[in-house]
Parts: sequence; structure tokens; C-alpha cells
Amino acid sequence: NDESPPYPADLERTYRISKRVLGVGSFAVVKECFHKQTGQPFALKIILKKAIAGKEHMLSSELDILKQVRHPNVVSMHGLYESKEAVYIVTDLAGGGELFTQLLAKGNYTEKDASAMVKQILEGVEYLHSLDIVHRDLKPENLLFQTPDEHANLMITDFGLSKILKNHDDILTTACGTPGYVAPEVLLQTGHGKPVDLWSLGVITFTLLSGYTPFWGEDQAALFESIMSGKYEYDEEYWSDISDAAKDLIDKMLTFNPSKRITASEALKHPWITNEQNAVARDE
Ligand code: ADP
Ligand code: MG
Repeated sequence: NDESPPYPADLERTYRISKRVLGVGSFAVVKECFHKQTGQPFALKIILKKAIAGKEHMLSSELDILKQVRHPNVVSMHGLYESKEAVYIVTDLAGGGELFTQLLAKGNYTEKDASAMVKQILEGVEYLHSLDIVHRDLKPENLLFQTPDEHANLMITDFGLSKILKNHDDILTTACGTPGYVAPEVLLQTGHGKPVDLWSLGVITFTLLSGYTPFWGEDQAALFESIMSGKYEYDEEYWSDISDAAKDLIDKMLTFNPSKRITASEALKHPWITNEQNAVARDE
């Protein structure tokens, strides 16, 4: 299914493109490439124009965003090329794969590891929010490890659904996002601002610690019902050994009212994030 060549001449002048496919998304194929002068590896995201026909506005919003971000916990863009058939984006390489894959393999994480990972994601989200960027699709598939090391740096990717907010209080109202991680105000179509990312991070934190998601349904309607109820439980079987500090932060992220939900900057000051040693220790 290799439809990518011929590559634009200016792309091939600067980068050697490997045959290795790093991943496939809803619109993109991602390959490994190497900067010819330095040998440094990068990721090359190839988006076929025919795959996004009618959705070009999503692509341009993704590019506007990628061009301005520079943060250790966010995948940043290093080059942009175009041919008749496709758009080619050179980005930071995240050679460790998706958090989703590692989570499936491990089942769940210790509090110490989960807290370190959530801290990295929060740093990236705080940075994006400082640029008035709302990701809107945070989930383990969009969190990539920089290297294959077990404790590698985590990077946020896939801004296909995010938008740049013009005003701080602007509320985005397009219905999108991913079932399971999506905030209730998105489903209720009452809001779409920065708090939606903290909700998703609450779902991610819950899932990293327990190995299952807090909201569940047999079909999409039942799942939406579950999210919109705002109700979730810490099942004794999985949660009895997990600290109150962890549950407190999850509760603050999974606060139903978006205006009362914890922000990224506040969450970075939460004891479970700042003081893992004491906060994570069991109360015995
Ligand atoms: P889409 O927007 O089409 O969903 P993604 O940006 O999610 O595309 O990329 C698809 C997949 O490719 C990701 O889930 C991941 O497995 C892989 N991938 C994406 N970006 C990188 C990268 N910078 N480094 C390594 N692998 C990547
Ligand atoms: Mg994706």
C-alpha cells in the first residue's frame, strides 16, 4: 500500500526516507526519515490529499498549530513539503511507540511511574494551553514515547482535531473527540474549551492506574450515557492499594462542571504530581 513516492524533490534533497513505516493513522502514514547532513532521525507524516478531501480545514489547522509548538513533551514540526498528491510533514521522531501499546502490554502502572507520566503530559498540555491550543483528542494512542526505553519521555501528538482559540474564553462547539476519553460537555454540546483536555487526562490517569476506563457502555449510546452521568467508581478489587492523593487528582480532573475542573497548571502543583514519595506512600 505504498502510495507515497515520488517524493517532492526538495524533501529528498534534505532527507533520506526510510521504507520503515512507524504508524498508520486515520489520515496519515508515518515513516522514518534521516536528515542527510546530520544523520539525525525524524518522522515523516504523509497525508494523501485524497484521503482528506473535504476536510482540508482540519489539515490546515493541524499545520498552523504544529509550526508554532516547541516543547519537550509535544511532537514538533521541522519541515513541510507538498506534492500534487500529498502533504509531507517532518516532525520529531518518537521511536518508542504509543503509550496505548505499552499500556496494553503492561496492564497498568505503579503510582510512581503513572505520576511521572501524567506529569509529562500535564507539562505538554500546560504549554499548549498557554498558546490557547486545545488538543481535544488526548488518549493513549496520541501519546508517544521518544525512545524505546522503559522510562522514555512522553510526547503529545496528533493535533488533527485541535483548534487555536482566538480568545481565552472562546468555546469550541464542534462535536468531535474520541468516545471513552471525551468530556461530558462535548457530548452535551455545552462547551469545548481547555477543560476538555483535563477531563481526558483524568480518564487517562484512571486507566494507567487500574488498566480499565472509568466510563463504559455496551455500545456508543450506553458509553455516552455513562460519561454524561459523570459517575464512576473506584472498584475495591483494583483500587484498594492506590493512594488517596491519586484518587483526589482524578476526582479533580473528572469534575463534571468544566469551570470547576482543575487546570493543567493547578494539576502540576497537586501533591500526587509534585511529591510522589509522600503522596504515593500507602497510609499504614
Ligand atoms: P492521524 O492524525 O492520521 O491519526 P497520527 O499522527 O496519529 O495520524 O499518526 C499515526 C500513527 O503513526 C501514530 O499513532 C503513531 O503510531 C505513529 N506516529 C505518529 N507520529 C509519530 C512520530 N513523530 N514518531 C513515531 N511514530 C509516529
Ligand atoms: Mg492518530
